[in-house]
Amino acid sequence: MAPKMWRQTPARLKKDKPMPANLTFDKLSALVSEGVIDTVLTCIVDMQGRLMGKRFHAAHFVNGGHHETHGCNYLLAVDMDMTTVPGYKSSNWAQGYGDYVHKPDLATLRLVPWLPGTAMVMCDLLDHHTHEEVPHSPRAILKRQVARAKAMGYDAMMATELEFYLFEQNFDALRDARYDRMTPVVRYNNDYGIFGSTKEEEVMRALRNGLYGAGIPVENSKGEAEAGQEEINIRYSDALDTADMHTITKNATKEIAHLAGKSVTFMAKYATDRAGSSSHIHQSLWSNGKPAFMDEHDPHGMSAVMKHYLAGLLAHASEVTCFLAPYINSYKRFTVGMFAPTKAVWSTDNRTAGYRVCGANTRAVRVECRVGGADLNPYLALAAQLAAGLDGIERKLELEPEMSGDMYQADVRAIPRNLREAAVALNESAMLRAAMGDDVIDHYHHAAQWEISEQDRVVMDWELMRGFERA
Ligand code: ADP
Repeated sequence: MAPKMWRQTPARLKKDKPMPANLTFDKLSALVSEGVIDTVLTCIVDMQGRLMGKRFHAAHFVNGGHHETHGCNYLLAVDMDMTTVPGYKSSNWAQGYGDYVHKPDLATLRLVPWLPGTAMVMCDLLDHHTHEEVPHSPRAILKRQVARAKAMGYDAMMATELEFYLFEQNFDALRDARYDRMTPVVRYNNDYGIFGSTKEEEVMRALRNGLYGAGIPVENSKGEAEAGQEEINIRYSDALDTADMHTITKNATKEIAHLAGKSVTFMAKYATDRAGSSSHIHQSLWSNGKPAFMDEHDPHGMSAVMKHYLAGLLAHASEVTCFLAPYINSYKRFTVGMFAPTKAVWSTDNRTAGYRVCGANTRAVRVECRVGGADLNPYLALAAQLAAGLDGIERKLELEPEMSGDMYQADVRAIPRNLREAAVALNESAMLRAAMGDDVIDHYHHAAQWEISEQDRVVMDWELMRGFERA
């Protein structure tokens, strides 16, 4: 049974509710004694934004396991395929691929209602010897920018909207068939369609209710503008909580689809002729519980702080793209006329601009970055957005005029067209190097270079179909 947990306001802003998730350690201990919970998942987040870790017997977790556990440090030095990528300074064969400490963040303990007798906790990654946070760990990278905002007097509040595709076949069947003849659950464009999305309720209702029972405040889900595509919205919260919820939501979607004998994909672009899947990022700063982005005397209701923040996002749009679109595939989503933006400009309520101001003239005034795909790592993406925006505030950057009309056709600042361009911009970013540290940027630049060199090396099905007979 899902507990009746609901957070009315962002968890960490409320003094009486410091827990972002829905289980205290004492409550967990009681549930373990009662035999309700028998398994605790200890989860770190890897470079790809995936949950990695161990399944603890709950009794062992409660009796001592909750202090810390450990795992091979290669988890922050592999690619999607778990290849031991050569060339990382922090983890390599020469250093023998040692361990990192996985330190449970007990404030994130929560139930996992869709798995029997299971709870989970997010872990931070610490150096085995010094017990300092590993600087290139995605959670540590985001925490650093959140702390920087806090030191400037701001709480960073964010939300991510996740899109994905839902298929009739299960994961193994599709993989075994090499992803040939994939059947979307809804066979047509079902944008906002109620009847179409009723066909998806076996998965979507279980997902909404499962997340709700895990202390994740789901707002809604809806059919999206392509066959089989869905979107799920979670209520905004502080940036770290939002990144945790995003990651858990993605994992939950896969698990719940799997349990229903179906499959999902969060690839940015799974098929050439299908729309891509996005992860738009809504962001606002708050100060002492009040929206720091609002100024009722401004024509758009935007404060000077918001204008500087948005100017920072635009000034650094190319540099942060690698964190919004981390793979070669991510750039195939940026197609004209398919709602994925190709221009880094701002506009009010205009979906062709990369940065859209939403909720103008209300307390909820915020900026929505529409550049990122569903394949982004939310910790890195949110950290990079914050770093860019805070730089805009620190340097009091002036906001350029609003753009209107169809941005696809406008000759204005384009976002990098591919990972090669984005990787160069990342590597050359003085702003990101100052905000995150040289070692962190070198690490993620290396990851991008590896993606590029792998795709340069590997022969694709498309090449075979094209050239086998006719080359
Ligand atoms: P739209 O559908 O127009 O993109 P929604 O009203 O569905 O916008 O809201 C999108 C997301 O924005 C939701 O996840 C919501 O919680 C979040 N959101 C609302 N207000 C704020 C805010 N002040 N700061 C950050 N995110 C917010």
